[in-house]
Amino acid sequence: MKNKVSLAKSSKTWNNADRKPRFWRCFLPVLAACLLLCGCSPKQAEPARYEQTFFDVFDTVTTVIVYSGDEDAAQQTIDEAHEMLVRYHKLFDIYNTYEDLNNLCTVNQNAGNAPVPVDEDILDLIAFGKEMHETTDGALNIAMGSVTALWTEYREAGLDDPDHAALPPEDELEEAGRHTDIGGVVIDRTAGTLYLADEALRLDVGAIAKGYAVQRVVEQLKSEGAGSLLISAGGNVCAVGTKADGSNWKVGIQDPYSGGYLLAVRVDDRSLVTSGTYERYYTVDGKDYHHIIDPKTLYPSVYYDSVSVLCADSALADALTTGLFCMPLEEGEALVDSLGGAEALWVLPDGTQTTSAGFEAYVVSDGE
Ligand code: AMP
Ligand code: MG
Repeated sequence: MKNKVSLAKSSKTWNNADRKPRFWRCFLPVLAACLLLCGCSPKQAEPARYEQTFFDVFDTVTTVIVYSGDEDAAQQTIDEAHEMLVRYHKLFDIYNTYEDLNNLCTVNQNAGNAPVPVDEDILDLIAFGKEMHETTDGALNIAMGSVTALWTEYREAGLDDPDHAALPPEDELEEAGRHTDIGGVVIDRTAGTLYLADEALRLDVGAIAKGYAVQRVVEQLKSEGAGSLLISAGGNVCAVGTKADGSNWKVGIQDPYSGGYLLAVRVDDRSLVTSGTYERYYTVDGKDYHHIIDPKTLYPSVYYDSVSVLCADSALADALTTGLFCMPLEEGEALVDSLGGAEALWVLPDGTQTTSAGFEAYVVSDGE
């Protein structure tokens, strides 16, 4: 289960049924013009809250919330966010191909064979993934798709038939582990191509794609003047400004054990992303095996039950949560401190919580 956005009740929620009739949509601008000509200014509509949820991007639940004084403009913003997310979803999909489009699935299918001409957005995402591999000293590795695919195969089989749930065979894991060299992911900006130099190497961008896409969408909407909005794509939340009344956007961080909330943080002009063992796992011989794989062991990382990152950039937050998940606490704390402007909360397997120095300043109490 992913984080749930903790939100105040809508003063107005978008609903097709309550759209103004066509007559009023045509008539209102005329009325406004008349009032202006009469020398009296029309009263600016109070910003209302518009919200829509989508189920067709990044295999998760995505909600877009916009505050605006203009209903049509709010819907336009929501539609644009959705269209952009659908486009990124198709480009970054590693499981499906689409007509007339080279995406990451196409690139994986051509491993060891040929460079694939791809959209610049794909090159940017992969360049970011390579950069974060370096930043996290290899803890985040998007070239580990052959290993994560094995875990996914065995997890799905185990969930379908729990009595026969099994771990991936050691020799298969080791063989897959020999094909995870990020150096084999070759970006050619001049030719506009992406090439996997090892035929058994596979890209898996599950750790960065959502955060990256959400960040790009938010930047575009901000450049078009959006001043108060929030996008939540699964565990990735990114907010622009504050709510229209100046109050904070607040988001709950899930308790990995109870399914309730550990605490809430304010995310105005920030992003909050959480990676947790509870998000995807299966059980073999009474032991749970989750989906975040430590590149050093090729087994699910054992350091934490959840890691949350709060920072200005959603792509960085997403990449960091997964990277931090695969490194010991001391290393993680040093990395977060070195980045400046990023804060983190680690929940250790014994339930203890540790935070970076500035995290506390973002925690809000129930009454706030
Ligand atoms: P997240 O929920 O952002 O932590 O991403 C987890 C997903 O990223 C997994 O479902 C895998 O697809 C992929 N993944 C798992 N471990 C790693 C890792 N160490 N580096 C990069 N991607 C990973
Ligand atoms: Mg991540």
